[in-house]
Amino acid sequence: RDVTPEKPAALPDAEPDVEISNRDRVIFPDSGQTKGDLADYYAEIAPLMLPFAAKRPVSLVRCPQGRAKKCFFQKHDSGGFGDAVHHVPITEKDGGAEDYLYIEDVRGILQCVQMGTIEFHGWGSRSTDVELPDRMIFDLDPDEGLDFADVVRGARDIKDRLADLGLTSFAMLSGGKGMHVVVPLTPGHSWDTHKDFARRFAEALSQAEPERYVATMSKAKRKGKIFIDWLRNQRGATAILPYSARSRSGAPVAVPISWDEIKEVGGANAFSIDDVAALQERAQSGALAGWGYAEQELPDA
Ligand code: ATP
Ligand code: MN
Ligand code: MN
Repeated sequence: RDVTPEKPAALPDAEPDVEISNRDRVIFPDSGQTKGDLADYYAEIAPLMLPFAAKRPVSLVRCPQGRAKKCFFQKHDSGGFGDAVHHVPITEKDGGAEDYLYIEDVRGILQCVQMGTIEFHGWGSRSTDVELPDRMIFDLDPDEGLDFADVVRGARDIKDRLADLGLTSFAMLSGGKGMHVVVPLTPGHSWDTHKDFARRFAEALSQAEPERYVATMSKAKRKGKIFIDWLRNQRGATAILPYSARSRSGAPVAVPISWDEIKEVGGANAFSIDDVAALQERAQSGALAGWGYAEQELPDA
């Protein structure tokens, strides 16, 4: 059985050998980055991204004409991807099986980029064992008007409450407006157990501090609060993967961050695809050593 995530690859694949067409096509009109820039970002970041992205069912946000034009969220193969974008059959509610996508190397990532992919979203389980989740995510979605400092405080609250339950967690900037708190788990419990734990955790937090947190989706109840989106933790749900680019203004990326570093960060979209060298340096500096790794199980009840 897989333990999660996989250990980082030591070296990037030599010459990924994926032809990127229309390298000069502008994908991010506000900031000017092209399809070639995006492909170069992914080729560079792949060794850091793959430990979290490989062998996991993925959904893609594709924007073939750039983020200002039509984008779509894609779960299944529509043809044309190439041999490094693999299929994994997953049982649907009606009992039939559908092929989902997974990748396992830099070629797979780049073949998706060639097809207009900007964002990579992943399931909370591995393609080798889709019925057994291997990470829980609390997605902090702040209402408009809240500061990033409020989000940081919320993430720290979640971390502390998880620690009270004996669980180690890690922070990620979403590249959008909020943060994700990620709890790696040794696979072994069902999706139902997983979702139930996440829901009860979020509800407990919102009951303890109802002025700051809400655990229900209803927009009306969110005013001035942070929605603790625990729904990332149901079977079939996805969340943005570490180091994925976002189809948002400025070409931001989702970035793993240490609890110590957060106070120096300006916002959830503080890093963009232009910052690949800085992202690699941070990883090499050891500031992120062990990020996303823990052998732990959900506590009972
Ligand atoms: P932010 O910090 O701005 O909230 P986020 O990535 O957490 O960024 P959310 O809107 O909170 O964004 O999360 C939406 C999640 O729902 C995505 O991470 C994605 O995996 C999932 N999702 C499901 N269906 C779709 C869809 N059609 N389009 C985009 N995302 C989808
Ligand atoms: Mn969110
Ligand atoms: Mn959300």
